[in-house]
Amino acid sequence: MRNLKDPAGLLQIRSDMEFMCHTVGQRLAGSPEEKRVAEYMVGRLRELGASNLGSLPFPVQRWIPAPAVLTDVDSGRRIEVSQVTHSLATPPEGVEGELIVIEPFDYEQGMRFDGLEGKIGLFYGGYGESEEVFRQMQESPLKALLYVDTRYATEWALAAGMGERFMRMVRKPMANLSMMDAWALARSGARHVRLACSGRIEPANSWNAVGEFPGSDPAARVIVISGHLDSVSEGVGADDNASGIAAALECARRLRGKGLRHTVRFIGFGAEEQLSVGSTRYVGSQVADLDRIAFVCNFDSVGAHLGSSEIQCAGTPALNRYVKEAAEKRLGFGKVVDDASPYQDMFPFAARGIPGIWVTRTTHSTLYWYHHSVHNNLDAVSMEQIAWTAEAACEMVGDLASRENWPFERRLTPELKGKCDRFLRELF
Ligand SMILES: [Zn+2]
Repeated sequence: MRNLKDPAGLLQIRSDMEFMCHTVGQRLAGSPEEKRVAEYMVGRLRELGASNLGSLPFPVQRWIPAPAVLTDVDSGRRIEVSQVTHSLATPPEGVEGELIVIEPFDYEQGMRFDGLEGKIGLFYGGYGESEEVFRQMQESPLKALLYVDTRYATEWALAAGMGERFMRMVRKPMANLSMMDAWALARSGARHVRLACSGRIEPANSWNAVGEFPGSDPAARVIVISGHLDSVSEGVGADDNASGIAAALECARRLRGKGLRHTVRFIGFGAEEQLSVGSTRYVGSQVADLDRIAFVCNFDSVGAHLGSSEIQCAGTPALNRYVKEAAEKRLGFGKVVDDASPYQDMFPFAARGIPGIWVTRTTHSTLYWYHHSVHNNLDAVSMEQIAWTAEAACEMVGDLASRENWPFERRLTPELKGKCDRFLRELF
């Protein structure tokens, strides 16, 4: 159990988490459930005395999930798989074909092997690693595509979101297999398989939920504290990312009524799992005062019972020093690294040259064991850990919000900015 200086928010964190994960449950981008959580966040911010409240809509392709089954035709064995979001449905009877295993190496050769016609490809790897490989797979004569996320050795099916750029290239039914199911399929020498899936897309609106404590200084800077409202199509997204929303709301509780010099704005972004769509729309067209936003603190997946907390800094060496001094030295909170991952909502701000931090917590080198699975449920997260994350972040954000002069500039190093520009070109 964490030794919190202020444990008063723990019950509220639990109640926020239970609302998001049990009362509402899965919260896919563009779904009524995501909207309900956006409204909940605005309501909670209102209770806490925030102003300039609102839910800002933007269009997305909503995914309507459905069960998906892969059958080994010869043995009759049925495997529950997870249809890749935004991929095509099969006819009700499914699509059947010879199974062909494709290793990433085969693609590096430019798919220069024959006989793909009418077969079902099992790709040893995830679908999102290269746009070129993705395009080649979609344009190949394969009937359907199966993927194995090689980052995990799981017995359960994993889900993943899909970026809008990849959605436009989709031509086939696609499904994710658990590593252990794929292993068993290969080991048994399965020859013919049938994939049946019926998930589909529908145009809808997603939402960014916003509220703030206005700063007392007329020339106030704006600090954004954020998380994302949506979850993937497996599980209820307790850690990813109800924990981030609960941490942001806990920060609001801790910072309310403090009469801060600078504005602190709380945002629950929609459609993060479709590659930070909500935050991209926010900086692109919804915000009127982007030039005032000077710092972003984004929480994504912060609640693991056991693991290692990390703060990713996108800024300058001076920002890194500031965060390191506070988090690592003074608070003993996690480790501090320099980077700007495109798979979280601080990125679109960093890509505009706005410094920020992404606070997260992993159980493995870069991820956590229940990532994007049914195990990402309330059992996976610790309320104390969420409160502790908020407490550590508030030490920094509260300090910045009350200071006239900041110890770092509003910019990123040319190296980090260049990295952001590359991600923008390759992924968005
Ligand atoms: Zn997330």
